[in-house]
Amino acid sequence: MDTFVKSRKGNDHLTFNGYIFEVESRKPNGKIYWRCIEVKKGCKGRGIQDESGVRAGRNEHDHPPRTVDIEVRKILGEIKSQASIQQGQTPRAIVASAVSETSQIIKAALPSVQALKKRAQQSRQLALGQPAAPVTMGGFHFDGEFTVPTLVNNFSL
Ligand SMILES: [Zn+2]
Repeated sequence: MDTFVKSRKGNDHLTFNGYIFEVESRKPNGKIYWRCIEVKKGCKGRGIQDESGVRAGRNEHDHPPRTVDIEVRKILGEIKSQASIQQGQTPRAIVASAVSETSQIIKAALPSVQALKKRAQQSRQLALGQPAAPVTMGGFHFDGEFTVPTLVNNFSL
């Protein structure tokens, strides 16, 4: 199975066999070549997508799968979309529902519940076109390229 998660910049990343890929090139025949996001560290892992789906490229990855990272991103994406869509739900309820079936390993890799609730709040405000309240993201830490700015917005009322 392949699915998409968002990168820090909001681009689509492909997840496949436990690895995360970014678009390398799109061919006129509709094929999409994906490269492992660890390409800068030297990984040569690729995925090739055509109408029949995604298959692994010839080269092996030179690192373990990023299963935890993928789950974390999926949960963050879920919180973001639910916060935007389910306007009647409190951020607490949205976070609780997004992490309800999450294993301890994934929970340990997630930001604190408080930070997740703030994230839900911000996604909702963004969806509503309102400025986000200032939030310090102390304790936010992601391995690799997933980072969060420490101060999201200036306070304005
Ligand atoms: Zn790789």
